[in-house]
Amino acid sequence: MRIGVDVGGTKIEAVALDGGRVIERLRVDTPRDDYAATLDAIAALVTNLRNTTGSAATVGVGIPGTIATTGLVKNANSTWLIGRPLQVDLEARLGCSVRIANDANCFAMSEATDGAAAGADVVFGVIVGTGTGAGVVVRGNVLSGANGIAGEWGHNPLPWPDDDERPGPACYCGKSGCIETFLSGPGMAADHERRAGRHESPPEIAAAASRGDRAAIATMERYERRMARALASVINVLDPDVIVLGGGMSNIDRVYENVPRLWSEWVFAATGSASDVRTTLVRAKHGDASGVRGAAWLWR
Ligand SMILES: [Zn+2]
Repeated sequence: MRIGVDVGGTKIEAVALDGGRVIERLRVDTPRDDYAATLDAIAALVTNLRNTTGSAATVGVGIPGTIATTGLVKNANSTWLIGRPLQVDLEARLGCSVRIANDANCFAMSEATDGAAAGADVVFGVIVGTGTGAGVVVRGNVLSGANGIAGEWGHNPLPWPDDDERPGPACYCGKSGCIETFLSGPGMAADHERRAGRHESPPEIAAAASRGDRAAIATMERYERRMARALASVINVLDPDVIVLGGGMSNIDRVYENVPRLWSEWVFAATGSASDVRTTLVRAKHGDASGVRGAAWLWR
């Protein structure tokens, strides 16, 4: 039995897994801006699930950030976790060891274990929604890396930029032209507004493109070329078997056909034919549940 907890900015979700089967699921509102209350909420969820699983169940936790080598949380957009010894505090409350990983790493772990990339050797899991995060799983293990940032390619610059993509939009991280500023949902909407003069959400843009709206089609084509370049640079470094997309932008159907058709232009030593590149691009199987499932699978 495994317990997984996904600490999000608005909800904390917890599941008990028996093998891959969810036997219980709980969620509560995140006590924003309150670290002690967040600890209490996580501990209460785990305690409740232990009534079902028994006390021997393992506990994994996904957080919107990373654990630094100091043991303190860093890079969390849930800022009240930053600088806190979350793992030590949770282990003290729960009386067991706890594994903690970045939420994008949990997503990749879930999809590599029993999701859309099950059985693949090297998996790059990407969440493209309000931001962009990614994680790497190699032969069933999360690759966290020396700095705890493996897979975090969203704040690299968009590769092979066109002249009108330089320097690119300003990013909250302090740089300009980050991949996230182009591929996130707000990034696509801002690009569409700049070029088409209309403020529309990504689902509205995708729907308009499928109806034949020329401005929306142009936005989709720019987006797909950018995603193809961003992922080609990952293929050139990591060479994953499977790239799994999750998050809101993963619901745009056309990217799964168009992006792999485009990316061979930038993949090293490919001749421009899509069949040269064996990496596949697939939609997440477990959707929003992958974060919490992957947290449970940290004890695999
Ligand atoms: Zn950035």
